[in-house]
Amino acid sequence: MTTSEKNLNGKVALVTGGSRGIGAATAVRLAREGADVALTYVNGKEAADDVVRAVEALGRRAVALRADSADAGEAAGAVGAAVDALGGLDVLVNNAGIGVLGPLEDLSLADVDRVLAVNVRGVFLTSRSAAGRMGAGGRIITIGSCMAKRVPGPGGTLYALSKSALVGLTKGLARELGPRGITANLVHPGPIDTDMNPADGPYAGGQAALTALGRFGTAGEVASTVAYLAGATYVTGAEFAVDGGHAA
Ligand code: NDP
Repeated sequence: MTTSEKNLNGKVALVTGGSRGIGAATAVRLAREGADVALTYVNGKEAADDVVRAVEALGRRAVALRADSADAGEAAGAVGAAVDALGGLDVLVNNAGIGVLGPLEDLSLADVDRVLAVNVRGVFLTSRSAAGRMGAGGRIITIGSCMAKRVPGPGGTLYALSKSALVGLTKGLARELGPRGITANLVHPGPIDTDMNPADGPYAGGQAALTALGRFGTAGEVASTVAYLAGATYVTGAEFAVDGGHAA
């Protein structure tokens, strides 16, 4: 099992939600491994442009695409736009996701629809579109959550529902695309210091205490596992906890 330097030379990656947090760190990490990178965003154009500049500073090509994963057409269309801009697609990282937490009775129908549209339907549609463009050696890597496996307190029902759906999606994709030499894997981050879940936020202490390592992780620590999976040739249908021992 090795991931040699520059193992993604000549490859093209698409990272959804690549303007900030785990997605931004992943885009830069894949570029460091040699990939050209397309990334999607919704509101963070300036942040997305910063990531494009960071990738270009590494000598790779990059493009930022506005594509809302909640919109079925845009979720699928991001793949074609990335292929048009960069000439192909080898690695898809389904990272875009939203967390709407709260008691059952406080969740509106719009909350339910939006979380499922971004975290589940968008991932399915982008993956299907990518599968249609990838050849042998294609990689689909999805960002799930430690809450797909274990919900450590109240208020996470909708989010956990959305992230656990990605387990079935990943296994199904692995079986369906394996004969074509395309792999599909799932990464479950624990508490990671990002805008979504800042390490100095009101619930941070409790989250850190639930991990074996007693701390939040960094976006770069998740990105390094994504980079490994982008290069791995005999790993598919698998789940990887990058959670500091949250699941231990
Ligand atoms: P952030 O909120 O820090 O960043 C989210 C990124 O996704 C931004 O680039 C944002 O773009 C983009 N995005 C949000 N909604 C959409 C959408 N509808 N369509 C396209 N892009 C979108 O999140 P994190 O980096 O923390 O999370 C990334 C992934 O990791 C998510 O799937 C999340 O569920 C998962 N995760 C995070 C954990 C954590 O503790 N941080 C723990 C476990 C899982 P823009 O800049 O335009 O808003």
